[in-house]
Amino acid sequence: MTVLLQDYALPLSRSDLFIEAAYVGGKWATDTDRMEVTNPATGELIGTVPNFGAKQTSLAVDAATAAQKPWAALTAGYRGAVLREWARLVLEHARDLATIMTAEQGKPIAEARGEVVYAASFLEWFAEEARRIDGEVIQPHASDRRLLVRKEPVGVVAAITPWNFPLAMITRKAGPALAAGCTIVIKPSELTPFSALALAKLGEEAGIPAGVLNVVTGDAAQIGDVLTGDPRIRKFTFTGSTSIGKMLAARCMDTVKRVSLELGGNAPFIVFDDADIDAAVDGAIAAKFRNSGQTCVCTNRFIVQEGIYDEFANRLSERVGKLVVGPGLDGRSDQGPLIDQRAVARVSAHVEDAVGRGATLMTGGTTVCGPGTFFSPTVLRDVPADALLCREETFGPVAGLLKFRDEAEAIAMANDTRSGLASYLFTRDLDRSIRMTEALEYGMVGLNTGVISTEVAPFGGIKESGLGREGSRHGIDDYVELKLVCTAIKTTP
Ligand code: ADP
Repeated sequence: MTVLLQDYALPLSRSDLFIEAAYVGGKWATDTDRMEVTNPATGELIGTVPNFGAKQTSLAVDAATAAQKPWAALTAGYRGAVLREWARLVLEHARDLATIMTAEQGKPIAEARGEVVYAASFLEWFAEEARRIDGEVIQPHASDRRLLVRKEPVGVVAAITPWNFPLAMITRKAGPALAAGCTIVIKPSELTPFSALALAKLGEEAGIPAGVLNVVTGDAAQIGDVLTGDPRIRKFTFTGSTSIGKMLAARCMDTVKRVSLELGGNAPFIVFDDADIDAAVDGAIAAKFRNSGQTCVCTNRFIVQEGIYDEFANRLSERVGKLVVGPGLDGRSDQGPLIDQRAVARVSAHVEDAVGRGATLMTGGTTVCGPGTFFSPTVLRDVPADALLCREETFGPVAGLLKFRDEAEAIAMANDTRSGLASYLFTRDLDRSIRMTEALEYGMVGLNTGVISTEVAPFGGIKESGLGREGSRHGIDDYVELKLVCTAIKTTP
């Protein structure tokens, strides 16, 4: 492992994309009560944003409510054109957006640029889908009835988003919401608000009318109370931890909101003896170490067949040992810092727990000195199934390996969790691949690949990993209501 210690100042071509104000009703709110945002690579202050409570959040809901019907009354083609322009502006300013993202989130600048492109892809996709939100004409149940099903926007949407993908987790919600004719109030993570605010600025420039898109920053609990409790909000969409998601979803039931949840995973990565080991190691690096292991689809457990186990462990450990750890703004870094000290403490605890239960450390396993919250990329072999690493989402750069004998054991180990988001499978046997993909209790299966996310395919989990799907043609479903118009007609003049 190489560790880089330098960091650089925030170089932006358009400094007005760095905004220390919330965005409500088309206006930039600079309240005096502020909260600080720091750079996880250096521990330094980046800037401050307004610390909104319930009152200011309600004003954002007022604005979104007032704007919703006029926005929905525009043609789908018009709404799509605005979204397309927004996507274009996001791509045009990719470099600045990536710089802001890396500064507040920590990920390597190349990954941040990749996320900007990914974020824009949802805006473009839903710009296209806007004109295809068609209803249905159904064969009637009686000769004097006509049945028409309209798809109407659900209304005002509230979105709470996490820090690990500060742009894409917003566009995959705002894209379909705006395409369908909904308006939205977004609460980004308090750790990464500047990406969301820059995105809103570009939305404003793209022609999104005042009140259609609002970004509130501040106290999560107070803002959350309004976003889950206000009866004017008809849909709540959340990406984040399972515990907070469950709690907020329960609150939404008082006002019977539509709820979408994208929660934690516990992804298995299964490697059979017949796998292409080069592809499996590449897939393992992609599925485990992207964003320093801080994604909900990151592998949490490597489940490897006994015949290939030693070779896979050695090859993976060798690759992981070569990863370069350093500030994300330094183009040489493969691994940025973890988001905060709490994350470092959790990852350290998971490693200690595994070693305490008999696992062997092959590489890494330590915190890295310096001001930032870095943790060395780690591989552990012979991790027992009851280790914290296997039971809880580690959300860090630690690969824990477990051994299995046969297919039945692999399935039992993989499905032994209440989560069901992503899973990965490496095998070259056709029959086995079909049996296994059918047996895995997950919303997504990567077969011979560690990368599964794209705007064109449905993303989401089963079991306690969530409700609903984001992206793809299904991603719009959570933002529309079906309205039946049942008409009685006289069949003779
Ligand atoms: P993580 O543990 O990965 O940070 P969280 O679930 O805590 O995930 O955070 C995801 C989002 O949920 C963030 O925007 C965060 O501010 C928000 N959040 C956390 N706690 C609450 C709460 N009590 N009410 C509303 N939002 C919350």
